[in-house]
Amino acid sequence: MNILIVGGAGYIGSHMVKMLSQVGHHVCVLDNLTTGFREQVKYGELVVGDLQDLSLMETLFKAGAFDAVMHFAANSLVGESVSNPAKYYRNNVANTLNLLDVMVRHNVKNFIFSSTAATFGEPEYVPIDEKHPQKPINPYGASKLIIERILQDYAQAYGLNSISLRYFNACGADPDGELGECHDPETHLIPLILQAASGRRKSITVFGRDYPTEDGTCVRDYIHIYDLCCAHAQALNALVEGGEQGASCFNLGNGAGYSVQQVLDVAEKVVAQDSCRVVVEEGERRAGDPAVLVADASLAMEELKWTPLYPDLETIIEHAWEWEKKLAGFKKAV
Ligand code: UDP
Repeated sequence: MNILIVGGAGYIGSHMVKMLSQVGHHVCVLDNLTTGFREQVKYGELVVGDLQDLSLMETLFKAGAFDAVMHFAANSLVGESVSNPAKYYRNNVANTLNLLDVMVRHNVKNFIFSSTAATFGEPEYVPIDEKHPQKPINPYGASKLIIERILQDYAQAYGLNSISLRYFNACGADPDGELGECHDPETHLIPLILQAASGRRKSITVFGRDYPTEDGTCVRDYIHIYDLCCAHAQALNALVEGGEQGASCFNLGNGAGYSVQQVLDVAEKVVAQDSCRVVVEEGERRAGDPAVLVADASLAMEELKWTPLYPDLETIIEHAWEWEKKLAGFKKAV
């Protein structure tokens, strides 16, 4: 197939580009490189441009004859979305609308959308299934929920078929070691711990030990980037080959929660093999962090025929550590 991957130079998009290219699809990446990196696009072709550029989009869709579009290009920092909501509604909503409208004009019917657990807000129960009420508590989550809603109406009115995938905590790195997580600034727990271990930062701060969890730290559902991409590939199959119609949504996680302290413990074990250690500092709670976020991903497993290959946290961290050592310029162990 001919697939347009918007945001293919980012963390999740770049792994997706590799996976789809390796199974023989032709991939075109559209990325404005504001948060993505040219070097992360190792496969397919890269068009540097923005969803605001309507004439570029027209040209791209005229030439592209795309069978499907995957959309990863969004701003995703919760705190920033609170202080600068305009940026989030402009990019995550208005720019996505530009993309959907050009798809409708060019009769491209298959759309995979990166959504998020942040659309649920404060959990009313865990694990969170697709029936859980969606009451986002920040503009980031709200911006993604607006698109989920728009997709229902676009399916009805224009026959645009879509699958929205609500990610829990995407992490890990390409098992081949070719790609990995690159955010600037980095805000995510696992890469921050590993940067502290490699010496690229001084320490890691635990944001709160007074949560109502077993060890007092927040619990999250960490899903390997490879498994996340497999779920997208399965979703694409369901749309294109399985004839999945309308606008569906699936939660993506492992269904297992790990606390911040458990992540630290596993990471310390992994990095100790390279004689590295992590300096841990204690901090206040971070605003907007629910105590526990764990997915019930059984619907994706049943309907998309998806099974995570790397559910084990130690493997996830080992892959992320290989990538971090590469970034930090470690010599390969002999
Ligand atoms: N966290 C932390 N210190 C950090 C970064 C994150 O203690 O420097 C915690 C954070 O409070 C949350 C968990 O680690 O409970 C995962 O945070 P991350 O930002 O990786 O993902 P999120 O759950 O916000 O999507």
